[in-house]
Amino acid sequence: MRRIVAIYPGSFDPITNGHLDIVQRAVRLFDELIVAVLVNSDKAPLFSAQERVDMIRTILQQEALSARVDTFEGLLVTYAKKQKAQVIVRGIRAISDYEYELQMALMNRRLGPAIETVFMMPSEAYSYLSSRLVREVFKFGGSIEGLVPSLVEQQLRAKLGK
Ligand code: ADP
Repeated sequence: MRRIVAIYPGSFDPITNGHLDIVQRAVRLFDELIVAVLVNSDKAPLFSAQERVDMIRTILQQEALSARVDTFEGLLVTYAKKQKAQVIVRGIRAISDYEYELQMALMNRRLGPAIETVFMMPSEAYSYLSSRLVREVFKFGGSIEGLVPSLVEQQLRAKLGK
C-alpha cells in the first residue's frame, strides 16, 4: 500500500494558530505528517530549536493531532528524501506569500522532481497572522489571545518577562 508522507517545514518561531490550522488540514489528507523545524536559518530566533520542538509536541498532543515533530538543517529536499516524503506542505495566506512560495516550490522541484509542494489556505481568521507579528504585538504589550495556543503565550511571557 502506498503511504503518503508529507513534511510541513517552517521556522515556527513560535507556532501560531495559523500554523495549527494548516496542520489540522494536512493530517486529514496525508498518511503521515512531519512538522519540521528549520534550525539553520540566518535569522536569530526568539526560541531555540529545542524550545520550538517541545512547544509544538505538547500542543499537538493537547490537540490530539498525530504528527511527528523533527528538526532539519540544510536543504529541505535532502531532508525530505531522507524521510521518504513525497509532499512538502506550505501555507499561503495572501497573494503576498505567493511569489516567494512559488519561487521556493519551483527550486525544490528542480532539486527533487519527485517531491510535490502542496499549498494550503488557512481559515480566513488567520490569514493575516504571522509569527513575527505575534512576537511584535506581544513585545509591545498587545493581546495575542486567540492567535496562539495558550502554551505559546505562557512561553512568550516567560521569555520576554511580560
Ligand atoms: P518560514 O520561515 O519557512 O516562512 P514560518 O514558520 O513563518 O516559516 O511558516 C511556515 C509555513 O507556514 C509557511 O508556508 C507559511 O506561509 C505558513 N504560515 C505561516 N503563518 C501562517 C498562517 N497564519 N496561516 C497559514 N499558513 C501560515
